[in-house]
Amino acid sequence: MFDRIYVSELESSIGEKVNLAGWVTRTRDLKNIRFIVLRDKTGEIQVVVKSDSPEMFELNLNREDVIKVYGKAVPSKIANAGLEFIPDSIEVLNRSEQPLPVDILENKKSDLETRLNWRFLDFRAPTTNAIFRVQNALVTGFRSWLTEHDYMEFQPPCIIGSASEGGADLFAIPYFEKQAYLAQSPQLYKQMCAISFEKVFTITPIWRAEKFNTPTHLNEVRQMDIEQAFANDEDVMSVLEKVLVNMLKYAKEKTPDELKLLERDINLPKFPLKRVSYTEAIQRLQDEGESILWGDDFTKTQEKLLTELVGEEAFFLKDWPGEQKAFYAMPYNMELEEDQKYLEQMYPENQDIGRRIVRAFDCLYNGIEISSGTMRIHLPDLLKERLKFKGLNPENFEYYIGAFRYGAPPHAGWSIGMERITMTVTGMDNIREACMFPRDRDRLVP
Ligand code: ATP
Ligand code: MN
Repeated sequence: MFDRIYVSELESSIGEKVNLAGWVTRTRDLKNIRFIVLRDKTGEIQVVVKSDSPEMFELNLNREDVIKVYGKAVPSKIANAGLEFIPDSIEVLNRSEQPLPVDILENKKSDLETRLNWRFLDFRAPTTNAIFRVQNALVTGFRSWLTEHDYMEFQPPCIIGSASEGGADLFAIPYFEKQAYLAQSPQLYKQMCAISFEKVFTITPIWRAEKFNTPTHLNEVRQMDIEQAFANDEDVMSVLEKVLVNMLKYAKEKTPDELKLLERDINLPKFPLKRVSYTEAIQRLQDEGESILWGDDFTKTQEKLLTELVGEEAFFLKDWPGEQKAFYAMPYNMELEEDQKYLEQMYPENQDIGRRIVRAFDCLYNGIEISSGTMRIHLPDLLKERLKFKGLNPENFEYYIGAFRYGAPPHAGWSIGMERITMTVTGMDNIREACMFPRDRDRLVP
């Protein structure tokens, strides 16, 4: 067993002989005294060596050497932590080559490319370290809320035989005698789970083969998804807002020091989040002189501007034109009294709009899309009709449609991009900062 305690545990063991283990952050040698800053996952402590212990005073130590120190903590007026450590012995467990290829002290921040090349070392830089601790808190907040509310976690396949969304942006891979693809979303699989298990969620990688060249897109993304039976778009939007707030709450509670270091102050949005219709959003952007037409998607700049106009940190954009969303997005049912009432109330001057919009939504947070969702079509005939409307051949989707022939309840779901939300919460301009090992058009290593 590796016998050691953490730096954070020193306060309750003042005067006791203990082992510490960690990295040498820096050393400072004065005439008769030497200061070694030792760092472990819980913090830093100053180890003080006097010249009357020559074996420790003269020990060759460099930044990032891994050491084990035996000794005791004593109160100190000078040290930041109010404690310093008086060693009896120092053992070097492993050496670090010098010089370090990235500046993990962040005196002079290395450029992102260099940091990503040396990611394992960059993780030790306080800012990078803080980003991924916040990410971890967000993921825990996601998983814990859903688990507590009786959603079942499932694991979809990542290699698939055909395109689930009908899109062309798939990575093809050889698969024995066949061609396979990397999944661009767990769409069909989460639907198949929801129509039996009712409430499910997953955190899964997905791949998009687009030649992105933006600070907000990666080719490999982790998606945080739910799917729920007996639910429509509004039902899962109200789940999304609660999950989002729980994620932010976890980040605030579990990583306050990290957020402080990143200079981020999180406000918890109030329920319910504002709902803005796509149609209203287009109108407001047009009023500002933006060149955008009904039917267009918003650019990232327009998402930012819209956020200013709406004046909310987090809000929903709902009722999208069918042409902007996937074929499986549920249209409004013009024969249903409930839908008629909603449309009349929402769009009193636009009687016909119900035929053109679908039950789809985006969630914008800090000026950028973090999540999209829809109520799905659970009716095979309607699916065929919508596939044709999209210019797709229903015959190629027989397998997908078939899943809904044996008692599929109405259902809905959404997906949050893990790196996207990490990026917005930690205030990074580039999504690569929020991904441990980003995959983009140029980067496949490390
Ligand atoms: P965008 O419009 O921002 O390109 P999208 O609408 O194509 O995203 P969806 O299919 O709605 O993406 O995926 C759900 C979520 O996954 C998005 O809201 C986003 O948070 C995240 N996401 C999707 N594609 C990417 C990507 N290429 N890089 C990073 N995150 C992504
Ligand atoms: Mn989307």
